Amino acid sequence: MEASDKPFENLRRNADEDAVSIRPQALEEFIGQESLKDKLSIFIKASQSRDEPLDHTLFYGPPGLGKTTLAGIIAREMKGNLKTTSGPALERAGDLAAILSNVQLGDVLFIDEIHRLSANIEEILYPAMEDFSLSIVIGKGPLARSIKLQLPKFTLVGATTRLGLLTSPLRARFGIVEQLDLYSPEELTRIVRRGADALEARITKEAAEEIGMRARGTPRVSLRLLKRVRDVATVRGAEIIETGLAKAALDMLGVDKQGFDGQDRKFLSALTELFDGGPVGLSTLSAALNEDTGTIEDIYEPYLIQKGMIERTPRGRKATRGAYEYLGIRPKNQPRQLNLLEEDF
Ligand code: ADP
Repeated sequence: MEASDKPFENLRRNADEDAVSIRPQALEEFIGQESLKDKLSIFIKASQSRDEPLDHTLFYGPPGLGKTTLAGIIAREMKGNLKTTSGPALERAGDLAAILSNVQLGDVLFIDEIHRLSANIEEILYPAMEDFSLSIVIGKGPLARSIKLQLPKFTLVGATTRLGLLTSPLRARFGIVEQLDLYSPEELTRIVRRGADALEARITKEAAEEIGMRARGTPRVSLRLLKRVRDVATVRGAEIIETGLAKAALDMLGVDKQGFDGQDRKFLSALTELFDGGPVGLSTLSAALNEDTGTIEDIYEPYLIQKGMIERTPRGRKATRGAYEYLGIRPKNQPRQLNLLEEDF
């Protein structure tokens, strides 16, 4: 690899600047999730032509797949402002009332981690979502009065990694409920190339493919890897990120060809070695790995399942034959023959 005397100039940009330029601003710039985009674009056009805000929308799927980005795109397409908050941030009823009373016609209120809203906050949200009304209680005890405010029509966009944890009354109030799936390596390669343009970093198609392949199906991971690979390029004085450099940098980061990192390997080793391949319950795994159950369910498992390394069964998590092959070990207590027999019937 040829070293150059001039490291990248653009490295001095700060991270926030990068984030703004990297985030797609319009539906056409949003890569992948084709069927979701098709539907969303129809719903947006329909509400625009009726001069109404878009129906309340719920996005669900693992972190880093573009839920926040889509909320921003909806706000822009609907020519409204984006107001962002999250389930855990809304502690008291007053927090949500303050946000709602500032909402303007056509605005998008984005609530991330909406499954973590407390029951009293949900109570306020229901009438706000249904008939755009907000009831505020003033005073205490016998003198307490309830005032009803009419709010301008707005769109609530909720995001969650756990659809199952949403209460059914809340879920029922969303007119549009859409799942985001993990991305293909090809789509991630396009996201990496687009990200490199935004960062003004030069990268070959093959190097972008290398990053796309190892990005666990997740745009956020692909962009993070790109930035770290770019760091290596800068330090080495390379003007273009080439495959050799990308591979070396990714190996150094501990991300292998399958996109698994040290934590994934720890997970698979625990499952196969400590628990003989399972089935093992989530809380037991969580204790063994010293990782909370949410992180295991949201971050590790979707990709390990997609790659055919584990399966979720009613009795717990099980390692597949693929996991043993990947780790280069043989199932304990399970002679090969037994495995074959099990699968044949
Ligand atoms: P989530 O809200 O689902 O956790 P974000 O919307 O914050 O995910 O996306 C994470 C990062 O990945 C952002 O920097 C965003 O710009 C980028 N990103 C996500 N989806 C796409 C996509 N489809 N095309 C291009 N970039 C994307």
